[in-house]
Amino acid sequence: MGCSVCTYLECALQRRHGEYVTACSETFRRVSSELAAYNLVEMERARSELKVHRSECISAIAAAVLQRSLIPAA
Ligand SMILES: [Zn+2]
Repeated sequence: MGCSVCTYLECALQRRHGEYVTACSETFRRVSSELAAYNLVEMERARSELKVHRSECISAIAAAVLQRSLIPAA
């Protein structure tokens, strides 16, 4: 069973990434490069929050260990 905090933070990161991509579009960039910079900061903040949570989330750690165990050694 997944972690609801991981799911929330993953959704937040996806939303921030989408906002950043939109802000970087040609139309938006002409209006405000500050908006693109703001969205970049917010996207990186969301990425950092997810990374910090995953470093201490039992569910995320267990999923990473399981994924590693399913990958055959070279
Ligand atoms: Zn979690």
